[in-house]
Amino acid sequence: MTTYHYIILTIIALWTLAYFRTPLLVWTSTIAVILAIYTFSPASSFFSSFFAWTVFILVMAPIGIPTLRRRFISDKVLPIIKNAIPAISQTEKDALEAGTVWWDGDLFSGKPNWKKFLAEQSPALTNEEQAFLDGPVQTLCDKTDDWQTNHEDFDLSPQVWQHIKDNKFFGMIIPKEYGGLGFSALAHSAVVTKIASRSGTAAVTVMVPNSLGPAELLLNYGTDKQKAHYLPRLAGGQDVPCFALTGPEAGSDASSIPDTGIVCRGTFEGKPDVLGIRLNWEKRYITLGPVATVLGLAFKLYDPDHLLGETENIGITLALIPTNTPGINIGRRHLPLNLAFQNGPNSGKDVFIPVDWIIGGEQRAGEGWRMLMESLAAGRSISLPALSTGSGKLACRATGAYARIRKQFRTPIGRFEGIEEPLARMAAYTYQMEAARIVTAAAVDQGEHPSVISAIVKYNLTTRMRSIINDAMDIQGGSGICMGPRNILARIYQAVPIGITVEGANILTRSLITFGQGAMRCHPYILKEVQAVAETDNETASIKFDKAFFGHIGFSISNVFRTLFLGLTGAFFVQASNGMEKRFYQHTTRLSSAFALVSDFGLLILGGSLKRKEKLSGRLADVLSQMYLISATLKHFKDQGRKPTDFPLVQWACEDALYQSQQSLMAFLDNFPNRPIAWLLKGICFPLGRTYSAPSDKLGHKIANILLEPSATRDRLTQGIYLPDSTTEILGRLEDALVKIVKAEPIEKKIASAQRKGNITGYDLTELTKDALNKEIIDQSEAETLLEADIARKDVIKVDDFSADYLTGKTSNNLPENLSNIATESAVKASTKENREDSVVTKRISGERL
Ligand SMILES: Cc1cc2nc3c(=O)[nH]c(=O)nc-3n(C[C@H](O)[C@H](O)[C@H](O)COP(=O)(O)OP(=O)(O)OC[C@H]3O[C@@H](n4cnc5c(N)ncnc54)[C@H](O)[C@@H]3O)c2cc1C
Repeated sequence: MTTYHYIILTIIALWTLAYFRTPLLVWTSTIAVILAIYTFSPASSFFSSFFAWTVFILVMAPIGIPTLRRRFISDKVLPIIKNAIPAISQTEKDALEAGTVWWDGDLFSGKPNWKKFLAEQSPALTNEEQAFLDGPVQTLCDKTDDWQTNHEDFDLSPQVWQHIKDNKFFGMIIPKEYGGLGFSALAHSAVVTKIASRSGTAAVTVMVPNSLGPAELLLNYGTDKQKAHYLPRLAGGQDVPCFALTGPEAGSDASSIPDTGIVCRGTFEGKPDVLGIRLNWEKRYITLGPVATVLGLAFKLYDPDHLLGETENIGITLALIPTNTPGINIGRRHLPLNLAFQNGPNSGKDVFIPVDWIIGGEQRAGEGWRMLMESLAAGRSISLPALSTGSGKLACRATGAYARIRKQFRTPIGRFEGIEEPLARMAAYTYQMEAARIVTAAAVDQGEHPSVISAIVKYNLTTRMRSIINDAMDIQGGSGICMGPRNILARIYQAVPIGITVEGANILTRSLITFGQGAMRCHPYILKEVQAVAETDNETASIKFDKAFFGHIGFSISNVFRTLFLGLTGAFFVQASNGMEKRFYQHTTRLSSAFALVSDFGLLILGGSLKRKEKLSGRLADVLSQMYLISATLKHFKDQGRKPTDFPLVQWACEDALYQSQQSLMAFLDNFPNRPIAWLLKGICFPLGRTYSAPSDKLGHKIANILLEPSATRDRLTQGIYLPDSTTEILGRLEDALVKIVKAEPIEKKIASAQRKGNITGYDLTELTKDALNKEIIDQSEAETLLEADIARKDVIKVDDFSADYLTGKTSNNLPENLSNIATESAVKASTKENREDSVVTKRISGERL
């Protein structure tokens, strides 16, 4: 071997060590061994060996010996980093440190541990939870008339309210010992998913008390007395809660609320000299506020007379206040995008409350922001993801059926390639959303409070809901636009911005929170570095910083080599269990490595200013999101038994996510201000150029088909939504029509073929059918199938129309013309065998015109 061979051997060895992230000691020993062999080989000369050993000692000694390393490197870098990192306020710190790091930590690591992820328990509902879904939830859906609720009554009916309270819908997260249902996060999510597929108003009403609000805060921080008083009342519906944080001045920047509480003494319920708080506030957009009996209030607490202690500016504090307390103004309503859930402003003028109304008592004064941040993740992981998925499933089920039933140019519209494209997107996104919903809820059940992942699912699932509903509306055409009881999608379409705005508005969540908080919390070293920098003791700071900093350097070097290797080999050698989805695990590992590398360079070059470069950090948030969505999709596929017929959905979802990630990374690098670094990173991350492409048309065709006909795959995809058993509901009628249309299609083809050949004639379907029957091209039963399908089709393509008086509110006849006889009961009855004798079908065949 020549010297060049030894150099190549050393490079390969170093590359391998970096790839496997071996410790520094292994690096040092490996290079020393290679050098020793080289020294004693004939290839070396005295000078070459001397040179090699000198370089080795000069490089490795200061790195390998901690005291030297600290003295010559870490202690010199520490002050530079200290100046570069912007000061973090306590509110930011609370937000950054809230919740737990879960799979997001692996995705940030560049080397996700799939085995660990897949080993997590596959989630399942208990019998009791399933019975609740099949019983009280089904009944709630049956009882809810969404049109009546939103258009006529502007509220849920008294019966529905009572059903909600009687069946403890407000107590899903409250443990049984306090009279609640004590449901798992998975069950809670399944309940919201099902209700959302029936009525957005009912879903929001049920969802809010189980998300971040009085019950959750009491469970986490309440005093025993507060828990014993409020939790049973909240669970049983004797108290209706709301939680008021937002006001006219403080929306996204919620920590800037101007509402005040001044610690003072006053008279309370006739008792003088009670230690309490005088409150003044103005809030808006508060869900359930207008009907709430107990108000959770966030305000800033001040103690100018030092009645509680030394501190004057105590900070954000949370209290529970009965809404009948004197001085509170509550009850007026907003009208959020035509949804009739209760939502409105409230205010308080010099409202005096005893100090023990603070959630958690006096000792929790000033801890409100931390309490909110810590409690945010669980609810955000469940409510809106469930609502979005329920809406997506409904759209897939209803619009898929409609696309098969509705014909133009003598073809079901779902067969046109132009329609296939949105149908495929709807189906694959719905699969992906369901996967993320379930996997995330299951993580919460395992004790995780994944704050970054909760932001990811909230943002991405509400965004996908918007995409799905927009696609569905485009496919439905006029039938999606004309509102009325027959239109079950228009309300969701209208309501989408609500999900986008609440629980952290989406633009803010994507561009500021996901990557910003993710980088801090989930990156294996950044938080440690930041904490080390914040240490007041110099020696401790030096030791901690040195450890984190050199760990970080090793991590970055490893990512460079790993990313390049994975890019050159297409991640082909990444270990993953064999199966149809194997390549997606491999590609996601590659992506994770590239993401870790690019994030590091982004932070290194831009430092704290990356936080303000929201277009850049938003793109990194997108990559992190897509990796999570792929992970969830793969786990869900595995948990569901890896059904081959579901695989096209998995494939489309993963291919799309990989492609979108590549585009986001490239766009990040295209816009990265330091151009040489951007070129270098492009070369390392994409050495063979852009290798991922969007899902193919052929795959899209397969997926669109899933929505166009009844099948186990379609049922699995839309599982858990409200499916009315009767054909008096529009969704039930769509289902019924779809079955009939599919059954009739081969007969239609016979008729069309006979007509083309001139064997039968007629001006319409009835005449053609009669002629075909007479000429024995089809038999009686086929003729009936055909005409039954035609009746069903005609019924479900109808849209509502109203009298002018009804729309201007001049008449109390509140049924639209078409629904009062929703395609006439007789037509429905006619479609069943028992009623066929005198049915519309028989009449048509026997020559009577309808
Ligand atoms: C129907 C409904 C129900 C609600 N229920 C409740 C409730 O029960 N309790 C409660 O306390 N609140 C509630 N809210 C309030 C909700 O949380 C706020 O609307 C939300 O926080 C956004 O505040 P804002 O509407 O004032 O928008 P703004 O804060 O004014 O934001 C406007 C836009 O600016 C963007 N933005 C803001 N800051 C940044 C940034 N740094 N970077 C990038 N973009 C940014 C936002 O993403 C948004 O797109 C509800 C709101 C609605 C509409």
